[in-house]
Amino acid sequence: MHDVNAFRNIHRNRFQTEPTVFAAPGRVNIIGEHTDYAEGFVMPAAIDFATLAGISPRSDGKIVIYSENYGDERVIDDAKALPAAAIKHWSDYPLGVIVTLAGEGHTMPGFSLSLWGDVPLGSGLSSSAAVEVATALAVCSILGVTYPGPVLARLCQKAENQFVGANCGIMDQFISANGAEDHALLLDCRDLSFKLAPIPHNVALVIANTMVSHSVAGGEYTSRRAEVEEACAVIARHRPEVKFLRDATPEDLKNYGHEMSPNALKRARHVITENIRTVAAAEALMHHNLKELGRLMAEAHTSYSQDFEASCVEADAMVALAQDLPGLIGARLTGGGFGGCTINLVEREHAPAFAEALGARYSSEIGIVPQIHICHAASGAHRIG
Ligand code: ADP
Ligand code: MG
Repeated sequence: MHDVNAFRNIHRNRFQTEPTVFAAPGRVNIIGEHTDYAEGFVMPAAIDFATLAGISPRSDGKIVIYSENYGDERVIDDAKALPAAAIKHWSDYPLGVIVTLAGEGHTMPGFSLSLWGDVPLGSGLSSSAAVEVATALAVCSILGVTYPGPVLARLCQKAENQFVGANCGIMDQFISANGAEDHALLLDCRDLSFKLAPIPHNVALVIANTMVSHSVAGGEYTSRRAEVEEACAVIARHRPEVKFLRDATPEDLKNYGHEMSPNALKRARHVITENIRTVAAAEALMHHNLKELGRLMAEAHTSYSQDFEASCVEADAMVALAQDLPGLIGARLTGGGFGGCTINLVEREHAPAFAEALGARYSSEIGIVPQIHICHAASGAHRIG
């Protein structure tokens, strides 16, 4: 995992000055898929992969951003004249945060910022939120300001939405900023209130990357959202207090489902039941009922695959191949869908053998060697040392 002393050396050698260092984790979503934009619930955990940000002041008024992952540097000649637009470069992510903070009325001084992370880039474990939140903490330290975690998360989301131009929800930044060690976080996407639910220490988060990401995802995402909105509009005709599917119930589907297109009905059934499952999953964790949690995860996968139709052959195989392996508590496809990673809750003593057996089975069935990470629920962003 991350070697903070090596990272300090990188910053020191490059900028001849001692950095203040912050860490922000990646994340995995345990349950609650496509519920965020229905103003519903999600339950992610921060993981023990993180991005480190080291920062030190400069006297020449420049902002210099260096990423050890990319071996590349971006120089902004005048901290008081920040770029207005992204340039489709890794530096858009940290710079978006700097621009967003400046937009809050802070005058940017010059500084050197180094970044280095072990969150796999672009694998669905949210290296982007990690880099944003680590940058935000680092820059806030130099500005001498602090924001509550939920506010910091909103600022980072704004940076990714408005500067980088990626249409992400709030979950990734929120869990990176507010996660707690050995806990999952039940987030209400409506008002950003949250509850921590303990993950027992003997439970490992085994994340299995299918290594596929089907290119239909963009168009399918748009059509899913349209179908969800169609279903919600039908229910709202009868019950105007239903603003989002968060407000709807399984009863509504029984009463008004026949007025929806078959696809809208299926998508709505996923979202409505997923919301109920996500709240129930947090309850199960709070009552140490892992069996119930596993059952809910299995049901969530079936719903995601059959009703929301956002799985794929490879992800379904990764989930099916895990079922009879010793130590499995629950498995499902996590993230936006059409590929990416599965999350497996596994009894820790079985985790290494589980990972090896799952990898071997998936390779022989699908013909692709998966990446499998054994993680634990880590703390949210913080200063180091
Ligand atoms: P994910 O969040 O699933 O990892 P994204 O495509 O949302 O995938 O974000 C990945 C992008 O975030 C990278 O392509 C890069 O631009 C930026 N990024 C993440 N980590 C770093 C890092 N350590 N240094 C520089 N840029 C990073
Ligand atoms: Mg991302």
